[in-house]
Amino acid sequence: MAPVGDFEASELLGLEQDACRAVLVDLSKDVCGSSREELEFKSFSDCAYLTSKALGIQVRLMAADLGRACVDVVFLYNEGDGFSQYSAGPLPEGLQWTQHSKDVVLMLGEPSDKYGGGRFRAVGISYETLGLDIQFRESNWNDEKNPMAFISIFPRLDPSHGLCEMCGKRASFRCGLCKERCYCSSKCQKADWTKHQTDCPGFLEKKATLAALRCQDELMLPRCQQLSQKLLPVLSEVVLDSMD
Ligand SMILES: [Zn+2]
Ligand SMILES: [Zn+2]
Repeated sequence: MAPVGDFEASELLGLEQDACRAVLVDLSKDVCGSSREELEFKSFSDCAYLTSKALGIQVRLMAADLGRACVDVVFLYNEGDGFSQYSAGPLPEGLQWTQHSKDVVLMLGEPSDKYGGGRFRAVGISYETLGLDIQFRESNWNDEKNPMAFISIFPRLDPSHGLCEMCGKRASFRCGLCKERCYCSSKCQKADWTKHQTDCPGFLEKKATLAALRCQDELMLPRCQQLSQKLLPVLSEVVLDSMD
């Protein structure tokens, strides 16, 4: 196997097909010592794949108009299924092909998502803020020595947008009072509420309004009393809004 070079596979993200092809041809000369490029190109209705099995790389090109499609995922393969082990550069986040499922979680922490498993599907884990999915070979979640099959690299998700404040999973809800803080579930929102109610702008504003109304208690007109009663439940329970 050729020595690991200094190529960063994430550099392929965003490239158009021709530019990506040129990079892969250059790489295969460096890594495989061959001038004859053997890139496979497969096109589907909504995306296309460019593959170099010798390099252990596959990219997905995605766009409405395939002529101007750009790379949105880079797959780096471990040896097998006709693929050589990817070795043109370091693996992302300092990962090594010799590592197993348990080593990966020890290194990168709890994943933001898990998929696969069951009787037939191999398991995989996601780190959305790192822009990484790691697909393993075997389907058993309890297998701590599950070898990596391939790594998918995609644009990193900004942790301040669209990820749960509590657990880092993809969020589908926002705090209904400030519309700022994101959560994956009402469970996570409730767990965060003790902390968030001290800095939620929406909550603090409503609390201030209510306090002002209470100060005027003696002079309170019926309409203010009504408003006060409408605000009370808001303060005693958390409100969850859908993000869309
Ligand atoms: Zn969560
Ligand atoms: Zn809030």
